Amino acid sequence: MKIEAVSAKPILDSRKEKTILVSIKTNVGSFSASSPTGKSTGKFEAKPYKKSLDEDIKTLKKFSDYFSGEIFEKFDDLRRIEDILDRHVGANTLFALESATLKAMASEKFGNSSRERQKNCHSEERKKDIWRLINPDAKYLPRLAGNCVGGGKHSYSKKKPDFQEFLLIPKTSSVKEALEINRKAKNEVKFFLKRNDKTFSEKRNDEDAWETSLNEKEVFDALKELNIPFGTDIASSGFYKRKKYHYENPMLTREKDEQMEYLSNLIRNFNLFYIEDPFDEEDFESFAKLLKKFPDSLIVGDDLTTTNPKRFEKAIKMKSINAIIVKPNQIGSLIKVREVCELAKKNDIKIVFSHRSGETEEEILGDLAFGFQADFFKCGITGIEREMKIKRLIEIERGMR
Ligand code: PEP
Ligand code: MG
Repeated sequence: MKIEAVSAKPILDSRKEKTILVSIKTNVGSFSASSPTGKSTGKFEAKPYKKSLDEDIKTLKKFSDYFSGEIFEKFDDLRRIEDILDRHVGANTLFALESATLKAMASEKFGNSSRERQKNCHSEERKKDIWRLINPDAKYLPRLAGNCVGGGKHSYSKKKPDFQEFLLIPKTSSVKEALEINRKAKNEVKFFLKRNDKTFSEKRNDEDAWETSLNEKEVFDALKELNIPFGTDIASSGFYKRKKYHYENPMLTREKDEQMEYLSNLIRNFNLFYIEDPFDEEDFESFAKLLKKFPDSLIVGDDLTTTNPKRFEKAIKMKSINAIIVKPNQIGSLIKVREVCELAKKNDIKIVFSHRSGETEEEILGDLAFGFQADFFKCGITGIEREMKIKRLIEIERGMR
């Protein structure tokens, strides 16, 4: 496959904020991909754009001809894109371009040949089978972690939980079934909130999760009734200032050791299965202490590790986490995403592919998660941008049966 031209334009994400859509013209057709955008971003994430979105668009235009001399046919060839663009654009731009390139390569490889079509009557589906470029032997679908109730930086109510996400993680190997369970549960939580939160107005936050004025303990009380394993993204760097965790609901501060004590009690009392970013993004030691106390729960790094192989290596060395969030646009390079996933597999650390709070209708995350054999897939439960990704996983699941 040859890239004849590259172009880009701004589009609006689910938060109605600008993000980038990259389009490529190739000898096998035209392909586009967009990047999501985070809001509770880790301080060690790669910048989404070199200087600005508009500057990145101009840079891509300037470099457009440089790609035409290259042949792209396998995942490793993405390295050529990185060599050409080497630090000239930001992570969102690089991720969107590499995604569009994967789509073109998959279309050439799996889409058109008559032999492929004979082998599989669902040729339209195979056309999109980007995951085969990553791992043609991929087998296991990830387990869904669905954001049901939200607080923190993704929610806008005056009174809200300090924790950012309350996640339902049904134990079933079928994505379709997990989605059905989560949808039903989210509806049940709505009725719980109607009964227990006087201010509840069915408002949804950035990730289409329920907004509530309840605090984290009260939300956990609702979730424990569902009999579904659950967890939380505390996103604690968002409320860590001057060496203290500043809670607002109720208003109080916790020192590092008090945060440890508080979280340990929550994990014990509510049997929390999944705890993301329990401590500040610089505090590898406290993550490690918590993991040592609760080896059977998932202690997950997101802002801590930012899909960055170097930071992940440090987390591995310090035994800080047993699961890692993978958000491709935190790093931009899909070659580095692969490096992170390989490190995770080698060190027996669970992989959690994740959407961002500002999403587009892009569905490639499903292919990446399956191709890299992620253990979990963190996403919203409802809303078109989230549903597109889960539907893609269900499509893959259907193809496996
Ligand atoms: C997260 O913190 O896990 C998250 C999805 O938030 P954002 O996309 O805003 O970084
Ligand atoms: Mg997070």
